[in-house]
Amino acid sequence: MVKCPKCGREIKGYEEGWECCPYCGARLFVDCPYCDQQLEEAWSYCPYCGKPAPKE
Ligand SMILES: [Zn+2]
Ligand SMILES: [Zn+2]
Repeated sequence: MVKCPKCGREIKGYEEGWECCPYCGARLFVDCPYCDQQLEEAWSYCPYCGKPAPKE
């Protein structure tokens, strides 16, 4: 289940490849600058390499 980090709504019908919340337009994912894996916006650390996730 994917939840929007900004408006907190569950994104029902989420499909692979969506990058933004259909309700508020917030970005759902960021790319880890260290290993280029896709991270969820709400994560504080990259689970792939253990480095802190970028914060805007
Ligand atoms: Zn949203
Ligand atoms: Zn990483």
